Amino acid sequence: MKRKLAAGNWKMNGTRAALAELEKIAAAHPEAAVDILICPPYQLLAQAADIAAGSPVAIGGQDCHNEASGAHTGDISAAMLVDTGATAVIVGHSERREDHNETSALVREKARSAIEAGLTAIICLGESEAQRDAANTLDIIAGQLATSVPDITTGANTVIAYEPVWAIGTGKTPTTEQIDEVHDFIRARLVRRFGETEGAAIRLLYGGSVKPGNAAEIFATDNVDGALVGGASLKAEDFSPIIKAL
Ligand code: 13P
Repeated sequence: MKRKLAAGNWKMNGTRAALAELEKIAAAHPEAAVDILICPPYQLLAQAADIAAGSPVAIGGQDCHNEASGAHTGDISAAMLVDTGATAVIVGHSERREDHNETSALVREKARSAIEAGLTAIICLGESEAQRDAANTLDIIAGQLATSVPDITTGANTVIAYEPVWAIGTGKTPTTEQIDEVHDFIRARLVRRFGETEGAAIRLLYGGSVKPGNAAEIFATDNVDGALVGGASLKAEDFSPIIKAL
């Protein structure tokens, strides 16, 4: 049985004071039945890893460079994330694809770099509202999946997060039928590419306006192995019920 994963993406939120929320989350789940991951902003990573040490909470980055080191001012490599105590990294979030013009080909190289450094790569995919309205969702997902996921992907080193762009931070969520359709499609493509065993072992997260009130319904959907949570991961009082709902 795959362990479910509750992942929190703090995005560009949080100064040191926010670490109190991480302490609360770690204390509230001393023996969690699911994997818990918090991805704070860079400047908090090392302190966050110290706080989470010995608890079931793992710490991850929100992005990394595709190269191991070099002249890339302002960037962070996968090895640097490892050095902070992080064990995972989000790559290809739609906000990075949009704000920094990241292509699926670049996302694949970032994922490869992360995996080679020993991190779990959480690769994000998702259609825009216009793409869904034009009935292009599965084509978009197929393209992003084929190009963003590296050949070295296995169930142990990669997680895929389906995050419809129109559901992120909007309070809008797809119906469970819509989530089911996309997750089943992603699963079938992964099995076709990586084989029955690895394709089935890769965890699929849903992300986009997951809240305590809708988490249980979303998690009951087939092929949903957890969630990538933005706004509701910032406060322990919101994130803890989501962890419990898994
Ligand atoms: P929200 O949960 O705030 O909608 O954000 C989802 C997300 O983008 C997580 O990566």
